[in-house]
Amino acid sequence: MTRIVYLNGDWLPEAEAKVSIFDRGFLFADAIYEVTAVVGGRLLEYAGHAARLQRSTAELGITCPLTPEALLEVHREIIRRNALESGLIYLQISRGTADRDFAYPENPTPTLTLFTQAKSVLENPKVATGISVACVPDERWGRRDIKTVQLLYPSMAKMEAMAKGADDAWLVEDGFVTEASSATAHIITRDGRLVTRGLSNAILHGITRASVLSIAETAGIPFEERAFTPDEAMKAAEAFITSATNFVLPVTAIDGHTVGDGKPGPLTLRLRELYIKQKLADAI
Ligand code: PLP
Repeated sequence: MTRIVYLNGDWLPEAEAKVSIFDRGFLFADAIYEVTAVVGGRLLEYAGHAARLQRSTAELGITCPLTPEALLEVHREIIRRNALESGLIYLQISRGTADRDFAYPENPTPTLTLFTQAKSVLENPKVATGISVACVPDERWGRRDIKTVQLLYPSMAKMEAMAKGADDAWLVEDGFVTEASSATAHIITRDGRLVTRGLSNAILHGITRASVLSIAETAGIPFEERAFTPDEAMKAAEAFITSATNFVLPVTAIDGHTVGDGKPGPLTLRLRELYIKQKLADAI
């Protein structure tokens, strides 16, 4: 089935949606993106993603051409037009098109695109086994709190991790794990405490991370927001990643070292279950 995508107010078959080679998203990675999961034709965590989109665009001085209400309606419409039952919605907004110049153009018209990916987001075979990760130096820029489309280094890191036989990369800076290539990294200590890095410009402020911390608090699972080293993670009882595409996903090996008993940890699986239950109930 040909996807119907959104481009600047138009609904088009994917092959007909064209963006200028002078778009600053293409020339300078001068663009923001968001990813929202869809289950049962409904949006998960929409409010969080919309708020982060607003923050990211504000940090770069890009103005979203749609009101918050219209943006939500476009999300709903793309679900309808693609009969999307389960999958992901990718939104990208660039500063717009202008002749090539490092200086921002005056009053550009942003380019807003949305497309869908149909896939089963709830049934992930990796939940039963966990994923393996390899540690790779974090060589990204210093404003990782802004969700830009500069995804080349995370791609390189993932390729490096996969070349080592791992599923994904955990990025390491100054001896501490920052995050995964496209997810937040967490561990559970041997005394049952969830540890996740505190918010700063070093990491993306994960929407799933925030929800998992709130769920942990309600469930009485103690947590600490602090950085941890790869060595602490390898010796931890459990490890996992969180993201809009993976929800809560166990990590069972780090640089070839088994985490805990090598199986997805019980607290990780409990957090996944609680997360999915709550987010399905709150989906819009
Ligand atoms: N960190 C990075 C670098 C990411 O790319 C992502 C998701 O794309 C996350 C963390 C997780 O963020 P969220 O839970 O909002 O999907």
